[in-house]
Amino acid sequence: MKREDVRNIAIIAHVDHGKTTLVDALLHQSGQFRDSQLKGDCILDSNDLERERGITILAKNIALMYKGVKVNIIDTPGHADFGGEVERVLRMADGVLILVDAFEGPRPQTRFVLKKALECHLKPVVVINKIDRPDCRPDHVLSEMFDLFVELDADDETLDFPYIYASAREGFATHDLENFGNSIHPLLDMVLENVPAPDVNQDAPLTMMVTTLEWSEYVGRVATGRISSGRVRPGEKVTLIKRSGEHVKTTVDSVELFNNLGRAPVDEASAGDIVALVGLDSPEIGDTVACAEKPEALTRIDVDEPTLSML
Ligand code: GDP
Repeated sequence: MKREDVRNIAIIAHVDHGKTTLVDALLHQSGQFRDSQLKGDCILDSNDLERERGITILAKNIALMYKGVKVNIIDTPGHADFGGEVERVLRMADGVLILVDAFEGPRPQTRFVLKKALECHLKPVVVINKIDRPDCRPDHVLSEMFDLFVELDADDETLDFPYIYASAREGFATHDLENFGNSIHPLLDMVLENVPAPDVNQDAPLTMMVTTLEWSEYVGRVATGRISSGRVRPGEKVTLIKRSGEHVKTTVDSVELFNNLGRAPVDEASAGDIVALVGLDSPEIGDTVACAEKPEALTRIDVDEPTLSML
């Protein structure tokens, strides 16, 4: 069935093209921004290590509600591919928002991640950002994007990608270069219209691939991924299927969904949701979380995982 109440979208951009500013604008204008709690921190840049190095290392998620739909925004590591990390992260999404600077145009990072996104059959949506810049050249950049899609062997349907102009900093998105408007909502409308709703079976046995891991001082490892099939509830017994094929029985203590600032516990999550599971016994990236009775492994995307040691 189609989960019309959910959209999962990965956001990709070359560094400085405005990803953080855009996410802030989206949160502001979906009425979910609490300045006092954020105090100048940019949401997608909240990791200290990242701030230090000025790059995005750990993919993080946030979600916002728009017109009754939960839009999960998945940050994509932009700087390099840590052995399959980009691909794993992209697989949580059904669409990809490609943000490109209206002066600079697509850069190597844009190209690298877009190639992977097309390989994963994600629906691309192009955002040409910074159109408030006096030196911007949005039409030229749009045709550069088109050329990039051609170079990456996009099919005809993909070449007809939806696009929009935006100024993340001024907080608007528009299809019309004569009339900017003052709202970022046209961008969210474009996402709802173009990014497919997850098409899933919530009544099948549970499967979820552990895509990212996070360490919490209080609860230990938190495993995040997209539920491919079935449902999961707190207290549920599950099987963790390891790289070696070994099955480990363990219990989910808490099930959390993403929101504007982080995560909150819920009573149940189901196929199509991006979820964080707390309490699993030593989960590792690439493991499948499966139902206890009929555990079935998802296809792995194998990687040497450098991010854990950095946590
Ligand atoms: P990120 O590295 O992709 O997360 O980029 P940031 O969101 O940190 O933005 C990089 C720089 O571009 C910052 O100085 C922003 O203020 C600036 N910027 C972002 N969006 C816009 C925009 O729409 N117009 C202009 N003129 N500058 C922008």
